[in-house]
Amino acid sequence: MQVEAENATYPKVTVPDCQVPKSLKGQKALVTGASSGIGKAVAIALGQAGADVVVNYVGTEGAAEEVAAVVADSGVRALAIRADVSQESEVEAMFAKMLKEFGTIDILVNNAGLQKDAPFERMTLAQWNTVIGVNLTGQFLCARAAVREFKRRGVVKEISVSAGKIICMSSVHETIPWAGHVNYAASKGGIMMMMKSIAQEVAPYRIRVNSICPGAIRTPINTGAWSTQEAYESLMTLIPYKRIGEPEDIGRVAVFLASDQSDYVNGASIFVDGGMTLYPGFATGG
Ligand code: NAD
Repeated sequence: MQVEAENATYPKVTVPDCQVPKSLKGQKALVTGASSGIGKAVAIALGQAGADVVVNYVGTEGAAEEVAAVVADSGVRALAIRADVSQESEVEAMFAKMLKEFGTIDILVNNAGLQKDAPFERMTLAQWNTVIGVNLTGQFLCARAAVREFKRRGVVKEISVSAGKIICMSSVHETIPWAGHVNYAASKGGIMMMMKSIAQEVAPYRIRVNSICPGAIRTPINTGAWSTQEAYESLMTLIPYKRIGEPEDIGRVAVFLASDQSDYVNGASIFVDGGMTLYPGFATGG
């Protein structure tokens, strides 16, 4: 079945209307940066799949509480916890609170991220450090805390055949260079090798680590950039599949990667980008 995406401010797109399978019953998930955009959709999808979900946020509590309420509508537990993922003490406190409230963690979705764009020669050290601090160091701190708990607890076969799953939200820019966004592209390229190296190290403990690499997903931060007909058509020259991505496109893949359905998928970057990384400019020659 197909439906038209709601609230589209540019030409309406046809997206699939898929039921999320109940593949995560009894699992405990933490989604960072879950009060908006992709993180919000992932938190909701994990809840629909049967997981209890911690909705991490750093900004206003209200938005996170609203997401938690939507997650809880699926009949699971949802808890909003504030923490700046770039700060070790805040990450440690968030995990301590989650373990106290939920008992353990089975799924970490390292989603929090931001951009501080500037022409390279004008990029400040503060812009560089902020992006690396949140996008890369934040993922390191959360992954380390999750792996400690996965290894302590081990496999609980009634819950999952693996001891834990980590999903890193990377980007098409882990492989596509991005002028004017050097700090962001460097952080996403860093996530790729961090993810693969952690995966290599922890796979023997039955812990799986993978990335989702989104491209052009309609979230509040970028909706404005693609809201005019002209901007949308320009974007479409980069997307062979000729539609923008919706946050739910990422939510469904996150559920798959968090579930035993994907048990043999380890250290993989899954591109969810309508074919953006197919280099459509080469479709007619090259
Ligand atoms: P978004 O701004 O809606 O989501 C990012 C979230 O991270 C926000 O809720 C923000 O408050 C949170 N955050 C920022 N700094 C934080 C910190 N220090 N601690 C905790 N949370 C923090 O944007 P989005 O488009 O939903 O992006 C989500 C992720 O997807 C990011 O990692 C982004 O790089 C990645 N991504 C998005 C796209 C896209 O097209 N939207 C494409 C590729 C990758």
